[in-house]
Amino acid sequence: MTHAELIFVPSPGMGHLIPMVGMAKLLVDRDPRLSVTVLIMRLLFDFDVDSYTNSLATTGAAARIRFVHLPRENANTVISSGNFRTHFIESNMPLVKQAVAKIADSAGSTRRLAGFVLDMFCTTMLDLADEFGVPSYIFFPSSAAFLGMMLHLQSLQDEHNVDVAEFKDAAGELDIPSFMNPLPAKVLPSVVLMKEAIGPFLEHARRMRAAAGIVVNTFDELEPHAIRSLAGLGAPVVYPVGPILNLKGEIKKKANSGGDDIMEWLDGQSPSSVVFLCFGSMGSFGEDQVKEMACALERSGQPFLWSLRRPSPKGKVEIPRDYMDPAEVLPRGFLDRTAGFGKVIGWAPQIAVLGHPAIGGYVSGCGWNSTLESIWFGVAMATWPLYSEQQLNSFELVVELGLATEVRMDYRRDFKMETNAVVMADEIEGVIRKLMREVGGERWRKVKEMSEKSRKALVEGGPSYLSLSRFIEDIFNNMP
Ligand code: UDP
Repeated sequence: MTHAELIFVPSPGMGHLIPMVGMAKLLVDRDPRLSVTVLIMRLLFDFDVDSYTNSLATTGAAARIRFVHLPRENANTVISSGNFRTHFIESNMPLVKQAVAKIADSAGSTRRLAGFVLDMFCTTMLDLADEFGVPSYIFFPSSAAFLGMMLHLQSLQDEHNVDVAEFKDAAGELDIPSFMNPLPAKVLPSVVLMKEAIGPFLEHARRMRAAAGIVVNTFDELEPHAIRSLAGLGAPVVYPVGPILNLKGEIKKKANSGGDDIMEWLDGQSPSSVVFLCFGSMGSFGEDQVKEMACALERSGQPFLWSLRRPSPKGKVEIPRDYMDPAEVLPRGFLDRTAGFGKVIGWAPQIAVLGHPAIGGYVSGCGWNSTLESIWFGVAMATWPLYSEQQLNSFELVVELGLATEVRMDYRRDFKMETNAVVMADEIEGVIRKLMREVGGERWRKVKEMSEKSRKALVEGGPSYLSLSRFIEDIFNNMP
């Protein structure tokens, strides 16, 4: 059989690579004619990509997914600037070109290049796909609402001469077609609020329009309004195929995560009684903020599981590490006083935790993967965004969808992961109490209903299942 070979190019970061690999798996599982090569560009500070890719089983359909690790050539990329990702990806273009040329040469009669599937930040590689004479599809690992916002801002700038960089100072609200409610400027993603980053960001939106299609990690019933708005915003064909989740938990547990110990501790808690606090792959707080959080948890008396990690050293951006001993940043005696009802951990086995019946609420950084995971397991959230597009996700969850309450919607850490803002203990305690009081209530039920819809979306005949079928059909129709 001749295989249609797709080249996947994820951008660095777990939140980009893992859902893309998830999509590759869906594709090869669904259609025996498809195979995928994932090209991995490596950042110095990325999570443990090797152990992740090595851990993936390569039997059965998964044997049709190959990983090619590109040489790590860009040690000097300045990662604390707003558009480091774009620079980094551009500098990897020649490596990608070489790798694809090799694949195209060796394809022979058994494999034919069918197209590129590019992460939302890899749009410059649309040109490469053109050079190879194959179509490109974009993989969008965040919400349809965010995709709509990108397209809208770009058309405001290009067609209506609006200087989008000025929104940085706007205290007001914006009408964005992918949102039903006016969007406060203060929840715009950080890239929109940074002069140096906005240009490359809008360039991605501009280029995405030229792709043969955009695959979005969302599902119809979660974002019906946003998904419908995309055609009017000039998007090419959109395939909502989510939620794509890494349910088998293949991410290697980091040091100190003590996964078994955590699950045992949860087993000992009553159903829906524990509040889980976890803030994404880059989530960490300064010492002042940690003390306020600790104080709030202790005063609330609520059983808690708290993923607490060490911020990068000043001026550096690294994946936050676990504390050797979290007592060094916690109020004196906190661990002893809360030992009977709380547990402080480092990197969390988040999927397993969210799936545990003891969890009753989740104080979340609102990364899109975490959001989908929480919905999948029917856990109501309190939103505490830190970076990327998390403020926008927070707004969508709280205001648009009514699936979450907020700690803050506009809390933000800059590209160096710094902030002067501190949310005080009283406020945090109030939100934790509210979140946990709502267990069994209206919002909680709404999240449970959305959980069921997320599962139905993927089964045969469900909207995301059908959308994936359409995508596969189009891959073959568009193949050169
Ligand atoms: N995650 C985890 N343990 C942690 C923190 C994060 O397993 O302690 C996982 C989480 O389950 C999710 C991913 O890391 O799948 C984070 O992706 P998301 O899009 O939510 O946030 P971001 O990558 O932007 O931080």
